[in-house]
Amino acid sequence: MIVTINGKPCECEKGEFLLQVARRNGIEIPTLCHHESLPGQGCCRLCIVEVMERGRGKIVVSCVYPVERECEVLTDSEKVRRQRGLILTLLHKRAPDSEVIAELCEKYNAPEMPRLLSAEAGKCIMCGLCVRACSELSVGAISTVNRGITKEIATPYHEPSKVCVGCGSCAYVCPTGAIDILETDSTRTIWNKTFRLVHCERCGKVLGTQEELALAAEKSGQEPDTLCEACREEKMAQVLAQTYGD
Ligand code: SF4
Repeated sequence: MIVTINGKPCECEKGEFLLQVARRNGIEIPTLCHHESLPGQGCCRLCIVEVMERGRGKIVVSCVYPVERECEVLTDSEKVRRQRGLILTLLHKRAPDSEVIAELCEKYNAPEMPRLLSAEAGKCIMCGLCVRACSELSVGAISTVNRGITKEIATPYHEPSKVCVGCGSCAYVCPTGAIDILETDSTRTIWNKTFRLVHCERCGKVLGTQEELALAAEKSGQEPDTLCEACREEKMAQVLAQTYGD
């Protein structure tokens, strides 16, 4: 099937999401809450595009819009630009400390709207990607708490979580840098809990926290890693060379 995006014919499978098709064809659509490993979020709505059907345009959220038939898509029409600008202004009001959002506001000419109240501080847009990352890739240590303007992401009772393994997945997927992760040579601190880091026995590269490696070992049924991937491959190559000769 063919969809035409900004005049460019793009091949796609029926049911494929528009964002995916656009990206595969080198067409840029801005996103915040979209992550390749955790697709289908559709929360920040920054990836809106205009789909033209029977001469009429409708605005859709491209990361969750499946292509059902051949159509024409505009990623930067007047309507898209206007609505995307408003979305960015609202996100900026919600998360005024986020540099990523401030840069996007500038890039996409978001209107200032000074009469609209802004949160006093913060970087979180409540997209929930971190909660999903933790529950799908790790242990489910964080969740959304409270409602309305006091809604936030936190560990239970804001206390250091008993189950958090300090893997940092939540911070790595956060699109606005809202989760603080502090690393020294030997420790990682996240969600008010400090973890001891384990290093590769050969090269000293950080492998992860003790708890994170123990969890991975439990899942795989193997002993916790003591070498990084590169050193493991090197060691394997040496063993093979010793066994079979060069
Ligand atoms: S650091 Fe803790 S809260 Fe964040 S994803 Fe890992 S286990 Fe979950």
